[in-house]
Amino acid sequence: LAALDAADRALVDGVLARQLRPLAKTITLIESQRDDHKARARAVLEALLPSTGRAMRVGISGVPGVGKSTFIEALGLYLIEQGLRVAVLAVDPSSSVTGGSILGDKTRMEQLSQNTAAFIRPSPSACSLGGVAEKTRETMLVCEAAGFDVVIVETVGVGQSETAVAGMTDIFCLLQLPNAGDDLQAIKKGIMEIADLIVINKADIDPSAAMRAKSQIKTALHMLRPMSPNWTVPVLTLSALKQDGIAEFWQQVMEYRAVLTKSGEFDAKRRHQALAWMWDMIDAGLRSRFRQHPQVKHELPQLAQAVEAGSTTPSAAALRLLGYMN
Ligand code: GDP
Repeated sequence: LAALDAADRALVDGVLARQLRPLAKTITLIESQRDDHKARARAVLEALLPSTGRAMRVGISGVPGVGKSTFIEALGLYLIEQGLRVAVLAVDPSSSVTGGSILGDKTRMEQLSQNTAAFIRPSPSACSLGGVAEKTRETMLVCEAAGFDVVIVETVGVGQSETAVAGMTDIFCLLQLPNAGDDLQAIKKGIMEIADLIVINKADIDPSAAMRAKSQIKTALHMLRPMSPNWTVPVLTLSALKQDGIAEFWQQVMEYRAVLTKSGEFDAKRRHQALAWMWDMIDAGLRSRFRQHPQVKHELPQLAQAVEAGSTTPSAAALRLLGYMN
């Protein structure tokens, strides 16, 4: 393990003392691309690790406009009323592609962001979705060390970001609009399969449409293999705007935790996630080392062309390039 210098020791102590400035500074360190910062961030994280793991980690997903920020604000304020501290993080796949963002641009969660029991951090920008997810996961641990009771990780219903968020949270919640077309899309994209809880938002607009959507989704869920033998995915209707149904939502989250803790699945899931994370890091590290190897860099373009042209086989090209890694 790397040793901490005095400045980083102060960061660790500040985070553990639940101070917001050291928390923000630590996250900035984690998000930095500089090699010396990366080494320091690793050391700080190692020091914080024993103080992590106590928060409930909640993933929230849904297409743009479904009401995620309205919902998270309502939920956050509700949880704070219950005496809890809430951190809100984001995994925005667009930030890795365009540098812009689907989640972060508008003024969001205005009331929550002004509350001292809340901490809101926009999505990190990194060169790949994997990079964004890794930094968000580390940021989540820092927030836990800073004593936040609930960490909400938000993402959008596009691309692979949902799998990444489901892989770092205890419960993955999917927000849906009350019309049937969207439900089928979620099933097609395989997102409903990874949801532990489904919420039909905007039920205030047309309550009977929301009820219809609920029974359609329930029927659709019957066709999917359940993630846990002990948990039937609930489908809730609510209105984030009217703050109606928020308490019932949280009650389901607590029920989920109780049921899966009792069966041992809650801890097993976290252990599994930690191992999967390690393997992701190993895969990414190997891939990057491979691509940086001088001989690979030199030969890759020609070999790729040869494979495309059919003048060499994919396996011959792959074996030749991998041979340089020995
Ligand atoms: P996001 O893109 O998923 O974060 O969605 P927003 O939270 O920004 O909400 C998109 C729009 O839907 C905003 O105009 C919200 O005021 C509105 N909205 C969100 N939740 C509800 C709801 O429960 N009922 C109604 N009628 N409108 C809502």
